[in-house]
Amino acid sequence: MAVSSKILRIAIPSPVLHYFDYFPPLGASHQELKIGIRIQVPFGTRNIIGILVAIVTCSSVPPHKLKYALSCIDRIPIIPKSLMNLFLWAIKYYHAPPGEVFFTALPQQLQRGVVLKPPSISKWFLSSKGKNLTPDLMIFRKAPRQEQLIKLLYQHPEGLSTTQIKAKLGSCQSSLSSLSIKGWIENRESPIALAKDKQFSGEKIIFQLTIEQKITATTIIANHLKFKPFLLQGVTGSGKTEVYLEIISEIIAKKKQALILVPEIGLTPQILSRFYNRFEYPIGILHSSLNTKERLDTWIATLKGKIPIIIGTRSAIWAPLQNLGVIIIDEEHDPSFKQQEGFRYHARDLAIIRAHQANIPIVLGSATPSLESLENTKRERYQILKLSQRVGAAKMPQVRLIDIRSCSLEAGMSSEMLSTLQNHIKQDNQALLFINRRGFAITLICNYCGFAIPCQNCDSYMVVHQQNYHLCCHHCGYKSPIPAKCPRCTHPILQPQGLGTEQVEIGLKHFFPNTKIIRVDRDTTRKKGVFNRIFEDIHNKKYQILVGTQMLAKGHDYPNLTLVGILDADQMLFSSNFRSAERMIQLITQLIGRSGRGSKLGEVLIQTRYPEHPLLQSLINDGYDYSAELILKERYQARLPPYGYLALLRAKSLNANTPLLFLEDSRNIIIELDPKGMVTLLGPVSASMERQGNYYHAQLLLQGSSRNYLQQLLSLWIPKLASLKTARKVHWSVDVDPINLM
Ligand code: ADP
Ligand code: ZN
Repeated sequence: MAVSSKILRIAIPSPVLHYFDYFPPLGASHQELKIGIRIQVPFGTRNIIGILVAIVTCSSVPPHKLKYALSCIDRIPIIPKSLMNLFLWAIKYYHAPPGEVFFTALPQQLQRGVVLKPPSISKWFLSSKGKNLTPDLMIFRKAPRQEQLIKLLYQHPEGLSTTQIKAKLGSCQSSLSSLSIKGWIENRESPIALAKDKQFSGEKIIFQLTIEQKITATTIIANHLKFKPFLLQGVTGSGKTEVYLEIISEIIAKKKQALILVPEIGLTPQILSRFYNRFEYPIGILHSSLNTKERLDTWIATLKGKIPIIIGTRSAIWAPLQNLGVIIIDEEHDPSFKQQEGFRYHARDLAIIRAHQANIPIVLGSATPSLESLENTKRERYQILKLSQRVGAAKMPQVRLIDIRSCSLEAGMSSEMLSTLQNHIKQDNQALLFINRRGFAITLICNYCGFAIPCQNCDSYMVVHQQNYHLCCHHCGYKSPIPAKCPRCTHPILQPQGLGTEQVEIGLKHFFPNTKIIRVDRDTTRKKGVFNRIFEDIHNKKYQILVGTQMLAKGHDYPNLTLVGILDADQMLFSSNFRSAERMIQLITQLIGRSGRGSKLGEVLIQTRYPEHPLLQSLINDGYDYSAELILKERYQARLPPYGYLALLRAKSLNANTPLLFLEDSRNIIIELDPKGMVTLLGPVSASMERQGNYYHAQLLLQGSSRNYLQQLLSLWIPKLASLKTARKVHWSVDVDPINLM
């Protein structure tokens, strides 16, 4: 078949839900047209870059209207075949615009058409043969230059570039060549993006695994040749990470690669150093604060097979590893695996698909598994493996509820909390106080007329920030000065209401003037790198009291922390989101897990006005699994996930009425498509905070009992939405498996 009779199906960065068809570039050969390459095409009045996803023989566009693509940018696909399948699956499942999906995942420079270049510098290393050679260098009697080189490389196990060698020994190209031909040394690519990070420390740290750890790792590795999901439920401090390291090292020994996903906040130097201490291979790191160059370099090095281990946050699910042997999701319950804007994918769910496509095992690790994963173990889709003991001497802490109904609180703390805190500090231990709201107070209220200061753009109140002396809306970021009198009645006394991290910090400084206190929330960790520095400092005992938001709850290991105080559990008990109960038991269990990780016994105090609340009671007395079971029963009755499947259509507009009109039209289309009403429609309704950043938000929720049926309905329905007249007046988006219904 002549190339010209082929039609290229291309994903183009645009918000439309379909692909675009083009004739191949004139003169392009059969070999050049590979699936997964970037292609430049004319689009409207511009030339833009798309991804070739398929080559077909017929198009719904008549031939005279088809344009010719302009040129192929890549010689090798930037999206390997295995990864392409994941993209195609995601586009279909999330009903997302193909271009948006590809271009969310690709490094920016690749989107702009930057040509692939090796991102690495080549370095010289001693080969394994060469390493055995030293210190017996007699064989180089007649070649002193070669001997010098061997000695130099022996001192530099991290490798040296030709330029670095030249700087030390002068030009020695011929010696390098002959050593390399004889197999004493070798030239390997070393990704430069990684050169800045601390890498292998030179000395492997391997623990003797506990029996539980060993059984777990062995079971998973025994299944390395097939798709098999494991839920690794290990109490905090039970050594899950050590199990991951063991699995990865076995997988790498089998010449395969490992992908590890961690939550947004989980990628700390502590975790990384455990990898660096274990592996001498390059480790690729992918997270949101990399600069574009670092991201590109890691991507390309991965594509070229130079990086056997990738650790990253959500978007690392798109890493172009071509020879995967295992995927590990740490803290699999963490909501940050779900992208909440644009292309709303769930990295954990996609990881299951990727593992299935690659026919490999996948490990979901957590002390507090998501209800979905627990249900999947019950249905025997996932095999559950448990680590029930903390490693070494560490015991689970004692947990107590403090009834604060009739207590007077100082900066949110009861006298029992303060005196316990005092005890732990006296013994030179660390304490963590948790309050899930940053700022000083939730809002300012007039003492006379009760007026609370609202945000001018949102249906919410302005949060008081004492440190910078301003009010700030946490939804749109609007800031204003703290007023001297009530804007409504001019009464001069405005009272802060509700507790935030700043207020607790100020209170603590008052009660413990000689103790080092650190506040950890989004305000104190905004600058790049600060977050990691604070955690290092905490680890090195520079601070004794930590006060902060959920940032402090995630898998960090502080051996000296013996007290955790949860100042306001009630905030989490009452929320309209159906996932908030699950979130609460996870958060409290994770917080409990921060205490007593070393040899000292830990203690946890939880302040509440509802000490008899069944969920708090079950969590404290019967533990996580039992409480999760209670919530699952409620979900079952309400046909909510994992027993029902959801999709949410959101719309927003500057005009208050148009979102609801659009959603009403959308609803009418579904009623036609689903005349028997197999899918339940809830709404349209205004969002619980209707006005946000001046936009009016509304939504329509679809709830079905069959995933397949809901999917079929979505694929018929969503393409029709764009042609609605009312669609032009709103921004709309579909969220499949939403985790937030707000
Ligand atoms: P988890 O991820 O389950 O919370 P970690 O893997 O962080 O637990 O392990 C908790 C602590 O125990 C860490 O300091 C780790 O270095 C240590 N540890 C883990 N496994 C072992 C082992 N087999 N022997 C000794 N120490 C271990
Ligand atoms: Zn606002």
